[in-house]
Amino acid sequence: MKYALLIIDMLEEFVRGRLRAEAAEAIIPNIGSLLVFARSHGIPVVYAVDSHYPKVDKEFELWGPHAVRGSPEARVVEELKPLESDFVVYKRRYDAFFETDLDLLLRELGVGAVVLTGIHTHICVLQTAVGAFYRGYRVIVPVDCVAAATKEWHEKGLEYMRSFLGAELTRSDQLIETLKRELGVPPASQYM
Ligand code: ZN
Repeated sequence: MKYALLIIDMLEEFVRGRLRAEAAEAIIPNIGSLLVFARSHGIPVVYAVDSHYPKVDKEFELWGPHAVRGSPEARVVEELKPLESDFVVYKRRYDAFFETDLDLLLRELGVGAVVLTGIHTHICVLQTAVGAFYRGYRVIVPVDCVAAATKEWHEKGLEYMRSFLGAELTRSDQLIETLKRELGVPPASQYM
């Protein structure tokens, strides 16, 4: 089964800005490891990026203006910056599938399983997991690569995804080992 790595809302706004998640900084290196692995093993990397119009947006009623298109807050953090070879999908709601071409893109890439990383566990990650579940994708969530405003919301989000969406919870290092096995990458010792 072909995988895609989704990086959801790792933007200045949610990592260091007003709507930041508690553990946002801590998950950057873990996502970074998956990112390096994905890019070097032909696993497509898709950034799902919150991108709101300056004045008109339903979400602003709840959160106030955030991640406004073209603003510094709407940029992916420097540490995880997209490359030309990655894909960037702009979204205006929590769910990265809602009114975007994410599903079309994943189908064209032949992807059957999505690895969800990013912020916030119980909002955009969870809603994107719902979108993926409805469309028949396998959902994998490395728990050390997602974060929420509080630990409690983070855990609730994970529990919901596991119980009601069949999400497979794992950790980034475990997932890399699983992917290596599935892709037939020889163990490091064979290079020595
Ligand atoms: Zn938003």
